[in-house]
Amino acid sequence: MPHRSRRWRKRFDCGHRGFGKYCHCCAVREMRRQAKAVQRKASREERSQQKRFNGFDLSMLPKAMIKKAKSILGKLTQGVHPGALGGKQFQFDRNLMRIPIGYRHRLLCRRKDDGIEPVELMTHEDYNSISHNTRR
Ligand SMILES: [Zn+2]
Repeated sequence: MPHRSRRWRKRFDCGHRGFGKYCHCCAVREMRRQAKAVQRKASREERSQQKRFNGFDLSMLPKAMIKKAKSILGKLTQGVHPGALGGKQFQFDRNLMRIPIGYRHRLLCRRKDDGIEPVELMTHEDYNSISHNTRR
């Protein structure tokens, strides 16, 4: 910036001093504020994206388990056999499988022609009540 004499400066309504038609100090501040708002929105979207795997909602899981669930879903997508991931078939439906996600959660998956599809996430307790009801 070329040096300009102090007497050229004027006082804006905001109380800042400067040159030109508007206060550059406040303009920069406003730009930063808007940039931050955009950033916040993006990171909020990213965070909600982080709770999904190919659109499958993982948000009921605690953070550490989301990581684990993603790694398991990733392996399933790559063709790893559910059995290798601790998955077990149901007796009443051999195309349905449950894969443990940590101690507390179970991932219900369905076998399809083109691979394994996640159906539902549930807590261990939810899962128990289902499997007991269905057992004969
Ligand atoms: Zn200002």
